[in-house]
Amino acid sequence: MGNRIPDELVEQVRQSVDIVDVVSEYVPLKKQGRNYFGLCPFHGESTPSFSVSPEKQIFHCFGCGAGGNAISFIMQLEGLNFQESVHQLAKKTNITLPTDTVDTVKNPQATEQGIMLEAHEFVKKYYHHLLVNTTEGKQALEYLLNRGISREEIKHFELGVALDSWDAVTKVLEKRGYPMPIMEKAGLVVRSERDGNYYDRFRNRLIFPIHNHQGKIVAFSGRIMGEGSPKYLNSPESSIFHKGKLLYQFYQAKNVMRKQNRAILMEGFADVISAFRAGVHDAVATMGTSLTEDQAKVLKTSVDQIIICYDSDQAGINATEKATKVLQKEGFTIKVAQMPDGLDPDEYIRQFGPEKFNTSIIEASVSLMSFKMQYHRKGKNLLDETVKFQYIKEMLQEIAKLSQLIEQDYYLNQLSKEFSISIEVLKKEFGQYSNQANRISNVTEVKTDIKRDITTKTLLPAHVRAEQLLLAHMLNSSDVAEKVRQQYQGLFYNNDYSEIIIHLYAYYEEGNESNISKFMNYLPSKRLLEVVSKIVNLQIAPELTERELKDYLDALNNYDKQQRIREKEIDLKKAEREGDFVKAATILQQITQLRSSMKYVK
Ligand SMILES: [Zn+2]
Repeated sequence: MGNRIPDELVEQVRQSVDIVDVVSEYVPLKKQGRNYFGLCPFHGESTPSFSVSPEKQIFHCFGCGAGGNAISFIMQLEGLNFQESVHQLAKKTNITLPTDTVDTVKNPQATEQGIMLEAHEFVKKYYHHLLVNTTEGKQALEYLLNRGISREEIKHFELGVALDSWDAVTKVLEKRGYPMPIMEKAGLVVRSERDGNYYDRFRNRLIFPIHNHQGKIVAFSGRIMGEGSPKYLNSPESSIFHKGKLLYQFYQAKNVMRKQNRAILMEGFADVISAFRAGVHDAVATMGTSLTEDQAKVLKTSVDQIIICYDSDQAGINATEKATKVLQKEGFTIKVAQMPDGLDPDEYIRQFGPEKFNTSIIEASVSLMSFKMQYHRKGKNLLDETVKFQYIKEMLQEIAKLSQLIEQDYYLNQLSKEFSISIEVLKKEFGQYSNQANRISNVTEVKTDIKRDITTKTLLPAHVRAEQLLLAHMLNSSDVAEKVRQQYQGLFYNNDYSEIIIHLYAYYEEGNESNISKFMNYLPSKRLLEVVSKIVNLQIAPELTERELKDYLDALNNYDKQQRIREKEIDLKKAEREGDFVKAATILQQITQLRSSMKYVK
């Protein structure tokens, strides 16, 4: 295990970054009052409930409850551990961390995955070397250059070639001491059932390395040179490669995507590489499967607008239709880039040149509705009444899926004009479709509101409310924490609060001043971070008066007593049932005493 980063350095890093900058790299934020708001990257939503406080240097989602400081944000979003996150943040500052602090926690799975990643990195370099430096790779290199892919692009995409050999990779991996069973799990080699030997998975193919979203190579895709099948051969699913979760080139494209708030969604590796040549650097591709919800969520952490750029054949149109369904759920603005009949983006660029691709295809992409209109009327004779009404019905259903009323109105009017149907009639008809669509989105909004209520409304039992407010003040001030420590010996009923308070006392004892963001580094779990971020978002006065403090403590003490009374009442009933009237009388007296000692809380 690597050494721990000293606390002072962690603190220096935390102080040197602004959480608003850190979060903005992933989530577009808008200022609203003292805080910034955006769409939560941790749960799908269409109205922003994710808040970032520049003052407190923390984030909190009113929807799903996620919360923390800049370090925990990176941890949760990038899937890194604490040390790794601090290292990542430090890169944005001029603070140099000791190199021996890179955390390498050795659990068996992590070790195995580490070996898999290392092997992929090595094999990637090997394939690339074969392509650019060797006579064996010359034919493949010429093939690529002839297809218009430049040497720079080959370098940028780290392309390679697998030789026409059964064991070239197997041998180099063996020589370097990589355990073959793990290499088989990683999908780099396959084991023959017949003789039990290991062989190369990829043979005589162009190699496209696939990065995960942290920039590590986790798989390869091998494309056949010339004709043959399968055209693409991918690494199998493994503990480091889940193709339904990955997008090709996401890691490399994410900064450009964030800057432009736009991503181009493509179907193939070749398309992305060709688009890159056309100066389109925000393109990503799925890997031979339709777009999944996971992939859409990943995109949502970076952009609001998606341009779908699929093939123009029927399969491509069906895939576009499928992808829009997934994307609409996440609330993207969707446009569709239309390729001339039968071409895929790669073919188009080779035929018409990169510039024309940018101007005539990407920049000329149409709104989803225009695309749908063309799609639904393709091959239909709209002069035929039945066909026409069917088309209008289909369009009304599509319009109902739009999230903005302005958009709905616009297309209803367009439809009304085109087919000379009065807008009133059209709107009436539209009503039945829009209700169906709205019902779904309303449900999710209500859920969010309920959660929001828990944090702000006062309908909670007195002791719960008292615990929340006390904790909020204790987080704000070491003085209040000290007063509570002296005046209340019990534990808080909420286990999470109790645990937080234990950490908080320790934090103050070390001489730290109140600082929520700094304190968060002392919390060992994501759940506690969420609880703290929720608590500090409660509306409280800056100072806690003696009177309030007393009220809250009374509420807690009263609750203690109520609990004890409840227990005694059970004992009382038991004693009465058993005819033990002396015991019953004693218990009754204790209950009365407890009752009278309870304080009236205003
Ligand atoms: Zn959330």
